[in-house]
Amino acid sequence: MGSAWSALLLRLAVVGLLAALTGAWFGAGAGWATASLALLLLLALHTHQLWRLQRWLKRPDSQSVPDAWGAWGDVFFEIYRLLRQEAKARERILADLEVFSQAAEASPDGLVILDADDHILWCNRVAEQQLGLRGERDIGLLVTNLIRLPRLAELIARSSEGQSLQYRPPDRKGTVYSIEAIRFGKDRKLLIGFDVTQSERVETLRRDFVANVSHELRTPLTVIAGFIEHIVTEPEPDPEDTRDQLGIMSEQVSRMLRLVDDLLTLSRLESETQALREDEFDVRDLVYEIAADGRSLSAGRHSITCEVQPALLKGSRDELHSAFSNLLSNAVRYTPDGGRIVLYWEVKDGKGVFSVEDSGIGIAEEHLPRLTERFYRVDRGRSRESGGTGLGLSIVKHVLLRHQAGLEIDSVPGAGSTFRAIFPSWRVTPPQA
Ligand code: ADP
Repeated sequence: MGSAWSALLLRLAVVGLLAALTGAWFGAGAGWATASLALLLLLALHTHQLWRLQRWLKRPDSQSVPDAWGAWGDVFFEIYRLLRQEAKARERILADLEVFSQAAEASPDGLVILDADDHILWCNRVAEQQLGLRGERDIGLLVTNLIRLPRLAELIARSSEGQSLQYRPPDRKGTVYSIEAIRFGKDRKLLIGFDVTQSERVETLRRDFVANVSHELRTPLTVIAGFIEHIVTEPEPDPEDTRDQLGIMSEQVSRMLRLVDDLLTLSRLESETQALREDEFDVRDLVYEIAADGRSLSAGRHSITCEVQPALLKGSRDELHSAFSNLLSNAVRYTPDGGRIVLYWEVKDGKGVFSVEDSGIGIAEEHLPRLTERFYRVDRGRSRESGGTGLGLSIVKHVLLRHQAGLEIDSVPGAGSTFRAIFPSWRVTPPQA
């Protein structure tokens, strides 16, 4: 500012000197006239600079700062410097904001920011999807009017208490979100929506599984308990009856043992910590072994034959023995006496295919997708009667999954079924030409 004053004083001094000289030469009137003219000229020049500054400020372009003389040059430069500083600061803030909004968009959880009165300030795309919001349309609206959830207002009001609500969107069956509210900043709230569909499903499966196992064990235990009570309370039990009862009890115990064995096998297969054994073996030998076991289970009631190629398979022989046996034992159990069962092992389009074909009771189409679920049976009575645990095909599915193999089922009720295990070509060494 000092330089502006000195420039002004200098100019006034020049004007004064000029006026004094003119006055001395041409008289006082001429001196005053010169002073007035010079001052008018100065005023006009300053007004012009002011106008240029005004014009430039309307569109301040850092690339074209107007030239200015004297103190105006400093003024233009100072304003230009401040504008540059502000532009840089704005760029930095915008860049930071962009990073934060990208991070919030990348979040796998739904995020909704609310103001003090629960109006939506912002939400990410996941929240739009989860809660049926639409960012542009719903900004500024009351969240409790948009999400129809009975206890949402209460949850938001108690947002510091770490509670959560479950939201099941009416248009997406089976999907469940857990919504939490967190207070932050000056009376702002953050709603977070977590997708808990998977964990809910796992929890339901676990509950059903425990209920099923308890039920499966309860039935034989009730039979055994009944007989024991009868034997204990009967003063003189008939030895013949007692032998029959012990026979039934032994059957029930075997049934429980089979169930426990299958449960252990399933749990071993499901725990992924166990690496798969990669034996390379001739499947023909395995098929012949299984066929021999099947014949003893059938006790001559069925014809069991094998049609096999000399192809090798890479995988766990023990696990595949268990899976293939389950398929054959099902064929024996669900094929009426006199029926025909054929075991195949062949290479088709490079893939290894093991199949069990029976002429049994068959399965209606609507049951096929659910057959490998644990404890799923088409006919509960028939399964139990024939010693089934309801876990055989679950075991088969898990073993095949561990071998990257698929299971195909073709069946016609009353005519028979074919269960096919299809192994990827890299597990199979086809017979040499
Ligand atoms: P289960 O111990 O009851 O046989 P599985 O898991 O092995 O249990 O099989 C599930 C259900 O699939 C069986 O209860 C039966 O209804 C049906 N099933 C399996 N294999 C056959 C088959 N070869 N023929 C007809 N039904 C079958």
